Amino acid sequence: MTNPLFDALIAPHKARRSPLLILQDQSEMSGADFVARALRYARVLSDLGLRPGDRMAVQIAKSGEALALYAASLAAGVVFLPLNTAYTGPEVSYFVTDSGAALLVGDPEKAAALGAVAASAGARFETLGAAGDGSLAALADRAADDFQPVERAPDDLAAILYTSGTTGRSKGAMLSQRNLLENARVLVKAWHFTPDDTLLHMLPIFHTHGLFVASNVSLLSGGKMIFLPGFNTAEALAFLPRATTMMGVPTFYTRLLSEPGFTRDLTAHMRLFTSGSAPLLAETHIAFEERSGHRILERYGMTETNMTTSNPYEGERRAGTVGPALPGIEVKITDPATGETLPKGRPGMIEVRGPNVFQGYWNMPEKTAEELRPDGFFITGDIAVMDDQGYVTIVGRQKDLIISGGYNIYPKELELILDARPGVLESAVVGVPHPDFGEAVVAVLVRQPGVEPDLAAIKARLSDELAKFKQPKRYVVVDELPRNTMGKVQKNLLRKEYAESFR
Ligand code: ATP
Ligand code: MG
Repeated sequence: MTNPLFDALIAPHKARRSPLLILQDQSEMSGADFVARALRYARVLSDLGLRPGDRMAVQIAKSGEALALYAASLAAGVVFLPLNTAYTGPEVSYFVTDSGAALLVGDPEKAAALGAVAASAGARFETLGAAGDGSLAALADRAADDFQPVERAPDDLAAILYTSGTTGRSKGAMLSQRNLLENARVLVKAWHFTPDDTLLHMLPIFHTHGLFVASNVSLLSGGKMIFLPGFNTAEALAFLPRATTMMGVPTFYTRLLSEPGFTRDLTAHMRLFTSGSAPLLAETHIAFEERSGHRILERYGMTETNMTTSNPYEGERRAGTVGPALPGIEVKITDPATGETLPKGRPGMIEVRGPNVFQGYWNMPEKTAEELRPDGFFITGDIAVMDDQGYVTIVGRQKDLIISGGYNIYPKELELILDARPGVLESAVVGVPHPDFGEAVVAVLVRQPGVEPDLAAIKARLSDELAKFKQPKRYVVVDELPRNTMGKVQKNLLRKEYAESFR
């Protein structure tokens, strides 16, 4: 019997006496204990009547138990569908209904609300808490650990991961066994992961970054993880000495930099820091290197494609870029109107083809047809420039492109100038409705603590540097930008907030 993901990621830990997970309370879970726990959960899923291909939605706290439940879904062939722990009952209801999940697993503390959600969607409901409590855990405690992983083919679905919903309603990306395994293999190799690695894991596991990039890569490499419930600066400092690698979103790095205890000595033994999910400011990249001596390795990916590009492990890691395409993955930059490949240096749509590209959106055949070309290229919605060496620089999302008076404006071009102005910590540029121009530019500036940006000087600078049609028609100064849990700036919220600026 073969089950590619289980065989490659989980089974090799079966006889392992050494720790696979180091948990927040310093307790450890050995590979053998982890696999046994996963097989118990798999037995429970099977006894509850879940069959290969059935969907299991989970909205639970990150824990060793939660990861074992993911491993159990692989063993049982059940399609894993993790949900952001911040989602409310009505939001969870959409995902459970849309996916036709057979089972919803929720936090014991939310049992009343989520139980009702499951009932109205016709799904079974069980609970699992971070401390190994809950009804599902109780069933697992009594189950045997000799479950035989079911047969799975490379094209069978392993997970449906919903996109973050940054640009609209979340879409369920169908990911096959091959999609996940191939990408994990590519990343282990590209980033030199080995059994000697200890990954400091502080990302959520309901998103592709924490679940597939971080957990799958570590599981496949045979290393171990310091598996923390979330990011906390003090805890990061305390655990760093035991780690060799860390994966983060840009906010992890800016928070570490704001902590004086984050020093070169503390990180001297570290092998690798990676960043993704949102753009890492070149400034953060440089400040991080100055402080720690390490160059963060930035990479780019999305729910639908896993990881697509990465700065090199050996070779130049360029601040502000996401590096070239990973081995075995094709990336091209095309004219969004015609789909023709553009010459190097011109901004256009990132299109991706390879074993990493998903199988389509669950229940959305039209959307799938719009974004997945018949020749296998996926139209990502991200706009970027590629240079002669294949390095990709993302300039923004197509949905954030501003069209004012018929001209295209890339927010990133303005943001880079604004970010460099004194008193400006960072910025976000959005387009809002304008009676004459269709859209007009609004610049949202975040003040540096204790400094007030000089708006007159900033306006003067922009009028020197940029064509008139690109210049903001309104400036707003704020304390911080709205961000989601992955550190993504939520431009849709900014557009909503400033929608009435010119009406
Ligand atoms: P939705 O598709 O529902 O609007 P989303 O695209 O934010 O949400 P994800 O799949 O979580 O959902 O995020 C993928 C996106 O994140 C990419 O398309 C890209 O815009 C952004 N991204 C990821 N890594 C980077 C990076 N290193 N630099 C800039 N942007 C990045
Ligand atoms: Mg997206």
